[in-house]
Amino acid sequence: MIGATGTVGQRLVRRLHDHPWFRLTALAASSRSEGKRYGDAVHWLLPTALPDSVAEMEVRDIREIDDCDVVFSALGSSTAREVEPLLAQRGLMVVSNASALRMHPRVPLLIPEVNSDHLDMLDHQNFGSGGIVTNPNCSTVGLVLSLKPLADAFGIEAVQVTTLQAISGAGHPGVPSLDILGNTLPLIPGEEEKLETEPQKLLGTTADGVFSPARFPVSAQTNRVPVVDGHLVSVSVKLGRAASAEEARSVIEDFRSPVADLDLPSAPLRPVVAVDEGPRPQPKLDADRENGMTVTVGRIRDCPVFDLRYVALVHNTERGAAGAAVLNAELLAAAGRLGGANRRTT
Ligand code: NAP
Repeated sequence: MIGATGTVGQRLVRRLHDHPWFRLTALAASSRSEGKRYGDAVHWLLPTALPDSVAEMEVRDIREIDDCDVVFSALGSSTAREVEPLLAQRGLMVVSNASALRMHPRVPLLIPEVNSDHLDMLDHQNFGSGGIVTNPNCSTVGLVLSLKPLADAFGIEAVQVTTLQAISGAGHPGVPSLDILGNTLPLIPGEEEKLETEPQKLLGTTADGVFSPARFPVSAQTNRVPVVDGHLVSVSVKLGRAASAEEARSVIEDFRSPVADLDLPSAPLRPVVAVDEGPRPQPKLDADRENGMTVTVGRIRDCPVFDLRYVALVHNTERGAAGAAVLNAELLAAAGRLGGANRRTT
């Protein structure tokens, strides 16, 4: 794993140290951490204890990583842009959280329950004998998992989304406490652009190595709020075929994962659920649903401007980051795209 000491890296460590398919073999981070015990290098932020076996591992240089079947990357974008292609050139499969290569014309941007067929794009990549797959921006995952049942049933014509995003989305140490406590920051640099472009790639099609993005516009406004984990997205949608709030609720409720038969260990039973009760979903009450892997949708109503409006909640560091990456690696393994039966992990 590279970027192993960060906010996302720690959650990857927690998910991978006792994973039924993968074995954690190496941890790497910046030169600040290189050569240290992981337990000394990391500022562990999770409520569960850091496993002793992981604490004793030595943090390595990210460029040294070579002997493994899959590399989980939780690097910042500029480092990822430089390092991930180098690792793929070495024959490694890189599963990345970073935004650097998400919109690359040959790199799949994956949510297994939405577009597992985009894995075909790996056959058209030119990163040597390895490959790169990416998971979406943390708010995009919540938006797209909630849109997917609606897109299948009614089509999507336009989307307007406003986010209330947790501070863990900014990494550690992230936003200074005096800037965010008792406050809201109505700008998250680069975030609106991701929300306005990634959904169309995810809900688009691929053929012969070419992506055809879905053709609906997204208008996004993003806000940082003093919440630890869990991004809320308030969504208004213009549908291809008008539908009532009841019909929308029913297609969201009926949605089941199209890859359920693969029995991927990190896949939730239901990737998206609808809740009825009053002021829900809430980060405190709903972010951890199914180990943080289920998106919760509530307040589904008719919209006087578009057709439909609702609120969705995604656990930004699990379904929006670490859990998303592990699920993508499981999909790669199930599709036979990782080497060997002994699935070693870096
Ligand atoms: P973070 O807490 O800042 O962690 C960054 C990690 O990268 C640390 O392990 C750090 O190591 C390492 N690193 C920094 N500079 C490096 C360099 N020059 N060379 C090698 N390693 C370096 O960030 P994060 O929140 O975990 O995010 C990681 C990635 O996931 C980012 O691309 C982010 O955009 C993406 N992402 C985050 C979220 C979220 O909710 N947080 C959601 C989706 C996607 P040191 O400890 O040694 O400095």
